[in-house]
Amino acid sequence: MCNDYLIEAPEMKTTEHIEQESTKKAFEESEVSFKLLFENNPLPMWVYDRETLAFLTINQAAIVHYGYSQEEFLSMTIKDIRPASDIPMLEHQVYRARPELLNCGYWKHRKKNGAIIDVEIITHDLIFMTRPARLALVYDITERKRAEDALRWAHDKLESQVAERTANLQAEIAERKRTEEDLRQAKEAAEAANRAKSEFLANMSHELRTPLNSILGYAQVLKNQDELPAKHRKALSIIEQSGEHLLRLINEILDLAKVEAGALELRAVDFNLPRLLQSVTDIMRARAQAKGLAFANEWFSDIPATVRADEHRLRQVLVNLLDNAIKYTHEGGVALKVGYHGPRLRFLVEDTGIGIRPEHLETIFSIFHQVHNYTAFEDGTGLGLAICKRLVNLMGGSLEVSSTAGEGSRFWFDLDLPAVTVLTVGSRPSSRKIFHIKGRRRKILIADDREDNRGVLRDMLVPLGFEVHEAADGADCLRQAKVLRPDVLLLDLRMPVLGGEEVIPRVRLMPRLKGLVIIVISARAFEHHREQCIEAGADDFLSKPFCLEKLLGILCHRLGLELVVEADGNEYAPRQECETPPEQTVLPSEQREALIELAKRGDIKRLREQAMRLVQLHQRYAPFAEALCTLAERFQIKKIRQLLETTQNEP
Ligand code: ADP
Repeated sequence: MCNDYLIEAPEMKTTEHIEQESTKKAFEESEVSFKLLFENNPLPMWVYDRETLAFLTINQAAIVHYGYSQEEFLSMTIKDIRPASDIPMLEHQVYRARPELLNCGYWKHRKKNGAIIDVEIITHDLIFMTRPARLALVYDITERKRAEDALRWAHDKLESQVAERTANLQAEIAERKRTEEDLRQAKEAAEAANRAKSEFLANMSHELRTPLNSILGYAQVLKNQDELPAKHRKALSIIEQSGEHLLRLINEILDLAKVEAGALELRAVDFNLPRLLQSVTDIMRARAQAKGLAFANEWFSDIPATVRADEHRLRQVLVNLLDNAIKYTHEGGVALKVGYHGPRLRFLVEDTGIGIRPEHLETIFSIFHQVHNYTAFEDGTGLGLAICKRLVNLMGGSLEVSSTAGEGSRFWFDLDLPAVTVLTVGSRPSSRKIFHIKGRRRKILIADDREDNRGVLRDMLVPLGFEVHEAADGADCLRQAKVLRPDVLLLDLRMPVLGGEEVIPRVRLMPRLKGLVIIVISARAFEHHREQCIEAGADDFLSKPFCLEKLLGILCHRLGLELVVEADGNEYAPRQECETPPEQTVLPSEQREALIELAKRGDIKRLREQAMRLVQLHQRYAPFAEALCTLAERFQIKKIRQLLETTQNEP
């Protein structure tokens, strides 16, 4: 227990005894209560000498908390319970304290066992046993400090983590932006390369088509001449075949470029499947037989008559596969088989040819791949199968192959080709080759900068009875058109002074040339060229090299002319059943009137569409529709009108 006395520092004066007594009593009472409070306070408390910093009195809580005995405390100064590093601050703090105020400070103390604790000390200056002293109340805040430190540490760590994460994120964003920029640049470069490639292909195709146009055009013109010596006729067909081979090559390269660029779109139409198979078979059988091979075709009766698909592309694939089969077969035969395989239609081309070794089975579908077996080397581009595979994929199938070297090969694919219940009348293969145009003599202006191109057209059209004029550039074309007022303008696109694209809108603005039929004939072969021209005001588009029959078809359709087709000098004899529909036909009045109107306008295309719509209404109209379509196919407008005159409105 503390045996010192705590004495406030009052000024003692000698006054009256009673007063002295009562003051002393009050003082003693206050001293007792202070001592009680000091001794029993649960917090460590002490009084130390302000000058020497020596402990003057200690309470029990301080003895317990610090581990020093009372004697030890009373032999120590405040400095003895400070860790060495804390002393300078302590002195500073101590001397700064102001006697009239309670002071508060934070310190580190060392316990007897060496443990360092954090303390908060509230001090008050007083006179103790006549000496200037200081009363200190001690709060051990070690735990609180530790918690605060831990909190600060966690906070600092969090902040540094946030800063680090932010920096990482910023770096990631910067990296992503860089990647996006790289990608954008790569995409732009790829697009530019693609554009350059398409441009190159378009130009190359243009350059190759232009001379081919003359070759194939003149071959057609010459073939139509009477009394051609057999030797020349043979030479002509070789020229024609070689030209067609070149054309196929150009088309294959263009097709491939389109497929690779994702620009090849299928054009689904309703067509008669057996008729397509028959026409493919007719061509290929002749080729196989010429090589001394057997040709078998087999399709099951349950295959649909009319289906919806890209007829042109399906034909292209079948012709290509059969062409290969004939090319790579030297004895035995070739077969085309079509039938259902599950719910899908299977197209199978089989041959007994040289076969393909297993190691080549994958690579034959690669671009420009040819198996260089020189004993069996044949003409080819190495593109056919690559294109077929891509086309079959586009149609929703997959081209498969199985083969045994020396025994033969099988190529097949399955397609979803649901039956369509519409009668379509497709074009019939024929050996037609001589044409005459019936009707008034029409004026045609040919605008093309190349003399040979104009020459082909002139030599094709003049013998048929057309009046032909020629212009060598766009400006010349406009000049002549104003004066001549032709019925038709056959227009090339690439010309000096003024290109065909510029000529079209100018012509369309000339009231004198109202009704002029503009047919673009260009070596540009992409679909978008056609679309651009039609949009600009052209009526039709033919890509070079063009087929005479096709041009005549357009002319007849646009000018309402009648085309007379002869086969090897014999008048073309239409099928009897097509010419004479059974009895008098009764038609729904709306459809009948539409047909009569279209026939008046000579709109062959829509006439055929209208005829097909009739069959959709009811199958009983099918014979009449077929007769109508057959006449339309031959551009026999007059006969169509006569046929319609025989019909009656349904009551
Ligand atoms: P090519 O124009 O050379 O015929 P394709 O792409 O059509 O090009 O065919 C690639 C190669 O696949 C051919 O060069 C040939 O070696 C092989 N091939 C294709 N069809 C057959 C087949 N029916 N029999 C044997 N080999 C074939």
